[in-house]
Amino acid sequence: MSSDKILQLQEMVTNTNNIVFFGGAGVSTESGIPDFRSVDGLYNQKYDYPPETILSHSFYISKPEEFYRFYFDKILCLDAKPNAAHVKLAELEQSGKLKAVITQNIDGLHQMAGSKEVLELHGSIHRNYCRKCAKRFDAIYMKKCTGVPLCDECGGSIKPDVVLYEEGLDTQTMEKAVMYISKADILIIGGTSLAVYPAAGLIDYYRGNKLVLINKSATPMDKCADLLIQGSIGEIFSQIRI
Ligand SMILES: [Zn+2]
Repeated sequence: MSSDKILQLQEMVTNTNNIVFFGGAGVSTESGIPDFRSVDGLYNQKYDYPPETILSHSFYISKPEEFYRFYFDKILCLDAKPNAAHVKLAELEQSGKLKAVITQNIDGLHQMAGSKEVLELHGSIHRNYCRKCAKRFDAIYMKKCTGVPLCDECGGSIKPDVVLYEEGLDTQTMEKAVMYISKADILIIGGTSLAVYPAAGLIDYYRGNKLVLINKSATPMDKCADLLIQGSIGEIFSQIRI
């Protein structure tokens, strides 16, 4: 990455108090959380179905044991720590420069880094609820379970508050995301290929002229970016001063 582009980003950040960040899996992979969509042999290792099938609503209903085998193995990751990107975003919010983080990740690392206004489009592994009595459980409770997690109150099965394939996104969260993006001075998009719904659709609500795109590989939106930086989001953010 060129230092010239970092300087441009620095200048943008210095001169605003209305940044909105939209992040995808790439933000979490730098904390060691695998992107289950990446084709790294995960498909053909121990599972008879592709991740998109296992993480679907109908699969969760029809084969909960198999769903949870995958979920515990690949999704419920509690050892990861926030990286430089999470930390800088929390600092930007604290300094009044950043209004919201909108994320496709479900790992809660933004909150762990100190971010307050985090819109989790796909839910969170840290919220789980009994499908029978609605009692809520944290991720630690889930981690202790084997097989299908059951409610300690009523014995009902517990479902993670994670948006599965075939399930709709939370309307209120989406409306808030649209509100923040449509009012943003700077929209920074990081760590997403922008191929996954609803990323591309949300970005259409941005009205400004400072669209910053940070990703390791090319995305279909590259030509729309006012500032395009290819590289590690953690490395880039760690160079920004507040
Ligand atoms: Zn219950």
